[in-house]
Parts: sequence; C-alpha cells; structure tokens
Amino acid sequence: MQFYNDMTMRKEEFTPIEPGKVSMYCCGPTVYNLIHVGNARPIIMFDVLRRYLEYRGYDVTFVQNFTDVDDKIINRANEEGVTAAEIAEKYIAEYWTDVKALGVREATVHPKATENIPQIIELIETLIEKGYAYETQGDVYYRTLKFADYGRLSHQNLEELQAGARIEVNDIKENPMDFALWKAAKPGEPAWESPWGMGRPGWHIECSAMSNRYLGKTIDIHTGGIDLAFPHHENEIAQSEAANGCKFVNYWLHNGFINIDNKKMSKSLGNFFTVREAAAVYGYDCIRLFMLMSHYRSPLNYSAEILEQAQSALDRLRTAKENLDFFAENGRDGALSDEDAAFAQSLGRYRDRFIEVMDDDFNTADGVSVIFELVREINTAVSPAADPTPRGGVPGHLPRAVRRARHPVRRGEEPRRGDRGDDRRPSGRPQGEKLGRGRPHP
Ligand SMILES: [Zn+2]
Ligand SMILES: [Zn+2]
Repeated sequence: MQFYNDMTMRKEEFTPIEPGKVSMYCCGPTVYNLIHVGNARPIIMFDVLRRYLEYRGYDVTFVQNFTDVDDKIINRANEEGVTAAEIAEKYIAEYWTDVKALGVREATVHPKATENIPQIIELIETLIEKGYAYETQGDVYYRTLKFADYGRLSHQNLEELQAGARIEVNDIKENPMDFALWKAAKPGEPAWESPWGMGRPGWHIECSAMSNRYLGKTIDIHTGGIDLAFPHHENEIAQSEAANGCKFVNYWLHNGFINIDNKKMSKSLGNFFTVREAAAVYGYDCIRLFMLMSHYRSPLNYSAEILEQAQSALDRLRTAKENLDFFAENGRDGALSDEDAAFAQSLGRYRDRFIEVMDDDFNTADGVSVIFELVREINTAVSPAADPTPRGGVPGHLPRAVRRARHPVRRGEEPRRGDRGDDRRPSGRPQGEKLGRGRPHP
C-alpha cells in the first residue's frame, strides 16, 4: 500500500511502526456550530481510510479530538448567554446527528481538550524546561525560531514565514512567529489552574498532548484538511518533536479544499452550506458518495449538477444491492449451472482491481469507478430487460430465479426515507439497462 506523504511530497510504501497495527490521528472539529460541507470532507474521507485499512487487515487505533475550548466557542457562548461548556456539549450532539447519518463510525477515542488539561500543562512544562517555550504575563509562547525544521511540512522556509508574519503593536511575544501554548484567563472565560496562573490552552497544543496520550510519541498517520498544514500541523510538529525528541508522524495525509460552484466557500459569498442543509436536498448518503467520487487530495467542486450525478449513481448502487439481496434470498433453489458459477467467480476480479486502485494512495475515485463497473454488470445481468438467452461474454444468463424475481420486488416496494424511489425514475427506461451505463462522474 502506498500513500502520498505531504512531508516528503512523494508516494511512499506504507510501513506501520508495529506490523499489523496502525495509529492514526485526525484533527476534529471546533464545536461551536453545525458542520459545513467543507468539514464533512475529512470526516468522511478519513473514516473510509480507517475502514479500508481495517479491510486490509490492520488493527487501527483512530483518534479524533473535539476542540471544546476556543475563542469561537467562547464568543458564541457570550452571544447566546450560556456557558462555553454548554455550547460545546450542544454542538457535539449536533455533530453526532450529522456524522452518524453520513455513515461515519465513531473513532476509537474522541478526546476533548478540556479533559486533557493536565496532559497539556505537562507538555508545556517540558517545552519550557527544554527552552522551546517561555512564560510572559501569564501567557506561554512557543519559541518558533528555535525549532530548526519549522515550515518543513508546508514547504516554506523560516525567512519567508518571518517576512509574512504580522507584527502587532504591544506584542508581548519575543518574536511575531511565536504562537500561544497557554493563554492567561480573561474575565468571563473558562479557565484552569496552571503553574502560570489561571488560563486556558491555545489550540495547537491539545493535538500534541492527545496524540501523545492516546497513540504514543511517534504515530503512523496524521490526517486533516490541507488548510491545517500551516500553521496548525507545523505547530503540532514543533511542539511534539521538541518535547519528545523524536519524529511525530510518519505519514501526513491532507485532503483538498471544497469549492462551491467553483468558488471558495465563504459566508460573505452566501455559498456556505451546512451538511444538514445539503442533506435536506440530496440526502446524507449522496453527500458521502459525492465525496468518495473524487480523490481525497484533489480540490472538490460542490454543484447541483455533480450532486445529482451522485444521486443517480446511488440509485444504481441501491438497485444492484436489492437485486443481489433478492438473489441471495430466493436464488438458492438449485445449484448454479457451471456457466453461472464461472460468471459469479469472475466477479472477484472487481475486488482485485478495487484493492489495486485503493492501495495506490487511497484512490477512492477509481475505487468507486470499479464498483460501478460491477454494478453495471449486475444490473444488466439481473434486469428484467436482460436477454434470457446466454450471449458470449454478456452475463445475461444469471440464474433465472433472479430475473423472475425482479418484478415482484420492484412493484411492492415503497421508497424509503432518503431514497429516490422508482417512481422518480424516467418512465419507460428498463432498470439496470441505461441506468447501469457510464461512470458515476464525468
Ligand atoms: Zn491535524
Ligand atoms: Zn489538531
């Protein structure tokens, strides 16, 4: 199996630290609002990566945090006149509503920043002892210039970064590049006791602390959106490697941006959709398939046209599954003919090809294409419109029970919630015929 590693900028053979096991960390959401379609991309993609690694026989420990103390949460709490903890709790529940509907499994651990304050403080103390951090006026900052490898992941050198750093008036930092590890308490903010007085952690330190606590000093895979590469992941590397004296992450995988109708998603452009809004139109399953139809590193364009393509692809997939389910239930009334058995056997080639493309940098776009070639073959073979007479190479000769079964199944079926029922299919089109054609994406 190979992954494109953003640190080395090339595809590398995947070799886990411990054979057969994978430790994987994905930066999770800051819980102050409903997740938007951009947030959903890493959640879906890396859920599928975790499932694929398990499918390939690895024992995966997957950690995804909740950032439950942050300026955005505090601002929201003040706006609504509730506590930051109440905001976090509310939006963690909302997160699960969307994410479970998207078919995403719970990670092995979902640690919260506020449940790791002792670990965070300990890590900051280590950084101070080693000269990588300093306290000033109750804040603690990371001494960025001391970490020689800073910028390596995002492929920027320190001079360039320094030139771009904003110098603020009255800055209490030694250098504008330095970032906060601990922030002194302000009135009305949640705060914890620390060696530097009451305060709260900065954002970056929590991931270093939690990765260390749940997965160890060096982990196999760290994932997240490309927008996290700088500064968040650079800061995580600087913190973890300075404190632990060893490599933090072996493989860095980042997903690309999502554009809406080829424009950057932003609240000011009015093209900002929550997952819930998108799901109300297309359904959660459709959003999941839409994401999987592109390679995780490519930019992804969200448009009605592409979502509708995903929807019709999903219809074909469901039809194929229903056909096979019916076959499994009703098709056992006799032994397969040699020809049918050979055909069923031959379908294994799709699995081999699926593994081949997915092993090549987790290419779900090609993986989905392989699945839809199989779907086309199934829907053609078991469609009532399929020719019952065996033809060379065309699987029109699957057991007759399947073909006989097609009509009763379809007729009695009511469209399920979130499904697009048969009644919405173009009339007069034989199922599994044209619907089974073509790739699921242009
Ligand atoms: Zn991350
Ligand atoms: Zn993080």
